[in-house]
Amino acid sequence: MAKAGIHEEGILPLTDRVEPKLFLIARSGIDHQEVQRFLDSENLNWNRTETATQSESLVELAGRLCYLSFGARQSPKTNYEYIKHLIGQGHESVLEHVSWTFILTGVSRAFTHQLVRHRVGFSYSQLSQQYHDESEAALVRPSIIEKNPDLIEIWHKSVEQSQEAYQEILTRLGSRFEQSRVESKREYLREIRSAARSVMPEGTETKIAFTANARAIRHFLDIRGAIIGDEEMRLVGALLLEMVRKDAPALFEDFRVDELPDGSPIVRHLTSSST
Ligand SMILES: Cc1cc2nc3c(=O)[nH]c(=O)nc-3n(C[C@H](O)[C@H](O)[C@H](O)COP(=O)(O)OP(=O)(O)OC[C@H]3O[C@@H](n4cnc5c(N)ncnc54)[C@H](O)[C@@H]3O)c2cc1C
Repeated sequence: MAKAGIHEEGILPLTDRVEPKLFLIARSGIDHQEVQRFLDSENLNWNRTETATQSESLVELAGRLCYLSFGARQSPKTNYEYIKHLIGQGHESVLEHVSWTFILTGVSRAFTHQLVRHRVGFSYSQLSQQYHDESEAALVRPSIIEKNPDLIEIWHKSVEQSQEAYQEILTRLGSRFEQSRVESKREYLREIRSAARSVMPEGTETKIAFTANARAIRHFLDIRGAIIGDEEMRLVGALLLEMVRKDAPALFEDFRVDELPDGSPIVRHLTSSST
């Protein structure tokens, strides 16, 4: 995927790419002092798996609370085995206690339009095209365009035309505030940016922050991770899986990233349990 813009030499070099970038900026933690205070207050003992991550321990704790399976009632299962059993049984609501917050950049508005359709267990904050001037916005160029040189010029001409139109609309309307029916300059700016963005391509790069819980991410990977014709979704799915799996391997041990013949990733769910 490439960055488009109006450049002297015309078509941009293929190396100038806009790729999805995912930043894991916050994660769930467990307060062991408070957990101990709870256990003491109930006269319980929890035999923890020392190697489990905070996210994994949190899920186990929530699961054990449902059955008060601590102390003498605790089976000899490790954290990994316990979580695998929970997921196998479909007792996945306990996975909702663990969440991560990400910032995602280098993706198209077309992609985020699909992403935000995931309503349950996801929260979003996205770069506004009404408050932010998009004159310098990058464009996400699908790799299938790059692989077909005859299409690159067509693609560039089209997005450059859109960018020029965007800027022209903003410039012309920008000088017509006095004639407008809107009294506030701030609202006028919102109105003219809204008008200008109507000519922007769906490939316009955007940035989005999102928080998602482990159950919702499993569902997302399940239905979005392996759609062959949706490369952007597969790229993001693979980045997402790699990050959450580092933090909570037991919660995602039944997913893996494979490589397609063209080198792009695909996320496979090895069993069919989800949601
Ligand atoms: C291959 C593919 C093609 C698609 N094509 C289109 C398309 O052409 N047009 C289009 O508009 N969308 C399309 N979508 C988007 C799709 O319909 C979903 O909106 C999107 O994938 C989010 O999935 P979800 O509803 O399962 O997720 P979430 O909104 O996160 O919901 C998670 C789960 O919660 C439950 N749930 C959520 N809301 C309700 C509810 N109101 N009632 C009952 N249960 C609920 C369901 O079990 C759901 O699976 C497509 C998705 C895929 C994967």
